[in-house]
Amino acid sequence: MRMGNLKSEYLRGLVASVLTLIFVLGAAAIGPSLAGGGAAATGEYTPGTYTGEAKGFGGPVEVTVTVGDGGGITKVDVKGDAETPDVGGAAIPTLKNAILTAQSAEIDSVSGATFTSDAVKSAAADALAQARGGQAGTSAAAGPKAEGDDLFIPGTYTGTSKGFGGDVTVTMTVSNKEITDLQIDGSHETENIGSFAVTMLKDRIMEAQSPNVDAITGATVSSNAILRALDDAFAQAGADLSKFPVISDTFTGLKDYRELDCDIVIIGAGGAGMTAAINATQEGKNVILLEKMPYAGGNTTKATGGMNAAETHYQKEQGIEDSVQTFIEDTMAGGHNINDKDLVTVMAQNSAAGIDWLDSIGAPLPKISYSGGASVDRIHAPADGSGVGAYLVTAFLKKIDELGINVMYDTKATSLITTEGTVVGVQAEGKNAYYTIHAKAVILATGGFGNNQEMIVHYRDDLNGTVSTSAPGVTGDGITMAEAVGADLVDIDQIQLHPTVEQGTSMLITESVRGDGAILVNQEGKRFINELLTRDVVSAGELEQTGSYAYIIFDQHLRDNLKAIEKYVSTGITIQGDTIEELAEQIDIDPATLAETLSTWNQYVADQKDPDFGRTTGMKNDLSTAPYYAIKIAPGIHHTMGGVHINTQAQVIDVNGKPIPGLFAAGEVCGGVHGGNRLGGNAVADIVVFGRIASDSAVKYCDK
Ligand code: ADP
Repeated sequence: MRMGNLKSEYLRGLVASVLTLIFVLGAAAIGPSLAGGGAAATGEYTPGTYTGEAKGFGGPVEVTVTVGDGGGITKVDVKGDAETPDVGGAAIPTLKNAILTAQSAEIDSVSGATFTSDAVKSAAADALAQARGGQAGTSAAAGPKAEGDDLFIPGTYTGTSKGFGGDVTVTMTVSNKEITDLQIDGSHETENIGSFAVTMLKDRIMEAQSPNVDAITGATVSSNAILRALDDAFAQAGADLSKFPVISDTFTGLKDYRELDCDIVIIGAGGAGMTAAINATQEGKNVILLEKMPYAGGNTTKATGGMNAAETHYQKEQGIEDSVQTFIEDTMAGGHNINDKDLVTVMAQNSAAGIDWLDSIGAPLPKISYSGGASVDRIHAPADGSGVGAYLVTAFLKKIDELGINVMYDTKATSLITTEGTVVGVQAEGKNAYYTIHAKAVILATGGFGNNQEMIVHYRDDLNGTVSTSAPGVTGDGITMAEAVGADLVDIDQIQLHPTVEQGTSMLITESVRGDGAILVNQEGKRFINELLTRDVVSAGELEQTGSYAYIIFDQHLRDNLKAIEKYVSTGITIQGDTIEELAEQIDIDPATLAETLSTWNQYVADQKDPDFGRTTGMKNDLSTAPYYAIKIAPGIHHTMGGVHINTQAQVIDVNGKPIPGLFAAGEVCGGVHGGNRLGGNAVADIVVFGRIASDSAVKYCDK
């Protein structure tokens, strides 16, 4: 896009801001509640907090309405985590504001999000009916009350609510006028995502001195749990919620227009982008790293297994014989031989150096085990067995901090700037400014499109409605931006299903559970496949079973040796039985059949031979230590293997087969490395190896 277009985007922003201003002024004229600033609305409802529920598009939608002392609605919380993020999920803030403005559930639906709109309206109507009937919700008015001008009864109060991974606890200390200390324990929340929410919300609440703040984008479940727990603590402290300001995170003013300069702009602070940013900075370049979410990590945070690498010093030290050649062959076979063999070769050849580089930046991966599709133990993980993604993201962020890299959060790249076919920068939009960023080179590291349902259905309509394990920011922006400057796409319809996804939470059950010895059984209590075949084959096997799902079964010994399991237990998705029969009863499987399946399997482990399905790996331990566990799983969209076409130097290739000058790409945004099926452990190999290659190439290009 050229400058003229940017100006028009800026003007559009200007018009939007003016319209927002008119809307806010209008709202102020209608009633004081939305324009907010602490003014309490007056109205017809009984003070308190009321919750209503209705069925949305993807699951239940919950609306919690807070009515202040004046009888007006002072706060609306909408929980609809199962709604499609870009459709119903995106409509929720609008609906929430509309209820506040209208002081009623009778609001207009958001076009294109009818299901969610109807559910929100119906749940709000239910909550308001309770408020009209005067039935007590968790009303602050019902408890002790702060008196006179005081906001609180001084003391320390604790509130608890259910978050994503278990209980979230908020401990608040207050004087009569202010919150003096706030401790939030969200240790069960997803590492990095939930913990970012904890720190960011704490700052937001303390700064606002109010519980009426917005959830952190992309971490709504954890945020809402914290806010609910806080409301509870406020109620105990005798606080009247309507006396506290409503602080919206949405910038409603006129956005600035800014121009920036750097050597390399990198789009996307996931694993590939952060690797590239660290590497390029270490090579002396001035880097800007753009991230559209309020926090870094993308899908990388969610990687649970490890990094495949061959001929590493760790393998040698541990007596594991491996070769680059076998790594290439395994990856090609796993990808049905449609992978770009040159890219696979480069990934395998540079994988050991990638492990050394991770050592050098303080992120060693010394624990080696087996992962599906590999012929030897090749997957490298953190020493304590924790999930590789969150571990790497934490280490990358520490290094980024140390190197003083400029990370612009909440800033979305919207298009690439070109001059006569050469990419010379990026246009981006932040919370309160539009940016033109001039750069000598641009690296795309925006990840895949697993969370863009429209794009998924466009390329694979058979996957309509399938749950996705992808992070909220992973919406294919890089692919769209690259296409707009003539980039070629490869294997774009190759989308990987992961076979073990808990459907209610979209939580992925790491392959290591099967690698460490778990089995899959169907509703009839029987095994139906070699559980460690490639992800596509196991997923297809599950879809053929009754109800298109299965149970993953493991025992206490396995739990004791795999830290990841604790998260599944605290999230509440595991079912536990003291005996196999007791477990079977809970999941409605015939107890005798499940007991028989387990005893047969344990014999196969003793014999190291699986005559039924030919499994040869993940058979080091049998399943004989009580208690026993089951998680109900089915396939979920996990990785989009297709994407932007790159060559071995990570240059983006155009539709005529020529590199686009100035444009490089790495990670899930690219196609070709994984072919028709990605092996577990190869996404991390991809981001580390190609993140470094993209930055080396960009550095060289800058110096040209
Ligand atoms: P990879 O594994 O390839 O590194 P990730 O999914 O880990 O990919 O990271 C991709 C990151 O890019 C995510 O954090 C996502 O929010 C970010 N992102 C996606 N689109 C944009 C965009 N238009 N502007 C800025 N950041 C983006």
